[in-house]
Amino acid sequence: MNSRWSTRAARVRAGLSCARRFTVALVNKPSLLALWLLAVPLAASDADRPAAVRVVGANGAGCIAGVVALPTDGVGFQEIRIGHSTFWGHPRTIASLELLAREAHAAGLPDLYMNDVAARHGGPIPGHAGHEIGLEADVWLDVTPKPALPPAMRDDLEPPSVVRPDGRGVDPIIWRPAHATLLRLAAGLPDVERIFVNPAIKRQLCETAAGDRGWLRLIRPWYGHAAHFHIRFRCPADQPECVEAAAVPPGDGCDATLQWWFDQLDHPAPPARPHPPAPLPPACRAIMAAPE
Ligand SMILES: [Zn+2]
Repeated sequence: MNSRWSTRAARVRAGLSCARRFTVALVNKPSLLALWLLAVPLAASDADRPAAVRVVGANGAGCIAGVVALPTDGVGFQEIRIGHSTFWGHPRTIASLELLAREAHAAGLPDLYMNDVAARHGGPIPGHAGHEIGLEADVWLDVTPKPALPPAMRDDLEPPSVVRPDGRGVDPIIWRPAHATLLRLAAGLPDVERIFVNPAIKRQLCETAAGDRGWLRLIRPWYGHAAHFHIRFRCPADQPECVEAAAVPPGDGCDATLQWWFDQLDHPAPPARPHPPAPLPPACRAIMAAPE
């Protein structure tokens, strides 16, 4: 269990045992006892109640209150790069990651490696253009059996790319059907908006996926993402301040839009002019300033 929640649970337990001692002392003073019974539970619940969930803005410029943390380990997964990653997310995001790990485990896959979800209050995190509202997460494309290493020994793990160095296909030495199984399970999670993978991975899935191919629509090609994939979940229905991304186009995406990425390898477009990051919505000021 996460240490933050362990501490909270211990505080609640301590509060309850204090409550029992005071109950004995006050039992002969009915009016005081009635007052105490009214006041104490409210005070305890105020102190221990997690912040209400509030998602503000878009994946690339936003924040979130009411996050929970992905545990360091769980059924079918291990966190890696813990010292330089952040694992807070919307409760639904964390539940979905744990569900993916359980489903992968049930399908016979080794433990998944997971890292960056979102920061404690959302907002920008180094090395990412998104991950700002607790609705995105990175899962590594590593389907090899994994030793049970202590967290400190997972800090510098760098799982290898599954894509050939020329970017035109997956690496046949590394790619396994289990990679496709993992991506299909991820695309089948509730409320997935899209999943980013390297174009070579999308092409491999387009060429090999059999049966129902509807899930391929959610697998979208993007720069990088050759060793991990990025899951983005939809805005929760009860979050009116959450800004949804533009809709994924219809179709499986195994078309000219995918070929465009490989054409770029032959005739790369000039690099886009860097633009400053979008400012956070004003409502994020209070959320970002909240205590840890
Ligand atoms: Zn990501």
